[in-house]
Amino acid sequence: PMQAVLVAPGVKDRKVLAFNRHALKEKDAVAALMRSIAGSGVRSAFHVLDLARVLDLHARWHRELPDVRPYYAVKCNPEPAMLGALAALGAGFDCASRREIEAVLALGVEPGSIVYANPCKPEAHIEYAAQVGVNLTTYDSEEEVAKVKRCHPGCELVLRIKGPVNGDAKVDLGVKYGALADEVVPLLRAAQRAGLAVAGVSFHVGSGGSRTDVYREAIKASRAAFDAAEALGMPPMRVLDIGGGFVAGATFHEAAAVIKEALAQHFGDLPCIEVIGEPGRYFAETAFTLAARVIGKRTRGEVQEYWIDDGVYGSLNCILMDDYVPRPRPLAAGRPGEKTYASTVFGPTCDSLDTVITGYQLPEMSVGEWLVFHDMGAYTTGSGSNFNGFYTSDIKTFLAYCS
Ligand code: PLP
Repeated sequence: PMQAVLVAPGVKDRKVLAFNRHALKEKDAVAALMRSIAGSGVRSAFHVLDLARVLDLHARWHRELPDVRPYYAVKCNPEPAMLGALAALGAGFDCASRREIEAVLALGVEPGSIVYANPCKPEAHIEYAAQVGVNLTTYDSEEEVAKVKRCHPGCELVLRIKGPVNGDAKVDLGVKYGALADEVVPLLRAAQRAGLAVAGVSFHVGSGGSRTDVYREAIKASRAAFDAAEALGMPPMRVLDIGGGFVAGATFHEAAAVIKEALAQHFGDLPCIEVIGEPGRYFAETAFTLAARVIGKRTRGEVQEYWIDDGVYGSLNCILMDDYVPRPRPLAAGRPGEKTYASTVFGPTCDSLDTVITGYQLPEMSVGEWLVFHDMGAYTTGSGSNFNGFYTSDIKTFLAYCS
């Protein structure tokens, strides 16, 4: 599998720093690698992507959900090496726009392995999908049916339904997307009238939540939509897209158990349907670690204030946009019994909103030292800005294989 990653497009032109974690815990191995990167003269914030972690997560996905093909949600983290590794492992991709489709096709992925999973698309992007042969897209409005008919009449549709939402999800996508129960039949009819095939049903239970029973309800509601299509005399649907919302760790095991049980209960009589998922956070979140450099310091009484070279307008935008709770640690190994101080950490832009954390205990640090932020892969670099001339895209990603 390591070879698969090393020859993956998006990875092959870049150096992968192989690293043996010996008996260390994984996070320590990444920190050790970061120390060697920082010691080699790198002077600005960087991420480390641990490709071994992506491989582990992929293997785990297949162990837990062997009959569900993952279509990685590119929006979560579009790092080319991440896409290349997943492509080499045989994943499909959920793309939301022309640029995302281009990025995935550039890796040599077949257009048939892409689902254009944005229920509301600009016409020019749909025309592009038609040109390159991406022929499967989601919808949840009659207007979208008309647009797809005009711009890509050969495209198959997937009806996005609004299932139950994970109460504690970081991002509730149901506010914006998904057909309500009483809209399902009119939307199926609209596709039927337009002569567009509806290949299946999709949902998204919300991103980053911990409840797993929501998948059961959503799968049940999906079956109702399959049955509604059959009652309308439409050709049998063949795709069930269970969306994203997965998190790595014990919750994934629970979610997988619920999904397998619900599929057996509600789709057991349709063994030929293709079940796919659109995991983003599951693959990306824990695979990336950020090191940000201390670029300024001020002492006010007992409080230490620091400026670092990444912040809420950069990859740490996840603090505002994704409820990320920063728990940074100094990269330098701590000394036993070291005194800590209530500290504030600011980002580099001139906006006071650009504050990473306040009242947080840190040992005294100096300019030029580093703070490490774990689990920095989900909705971070992809949604950062160029505010104040600090370009999120300037934050380099080093590729590691911590075996
Ligand atoms: N699929 C769609 C349509 C989405 O909008 C998103 C996230 O916004 C995802 C998948 C990925 O979700 P997650 O990162 O929770 O797996």
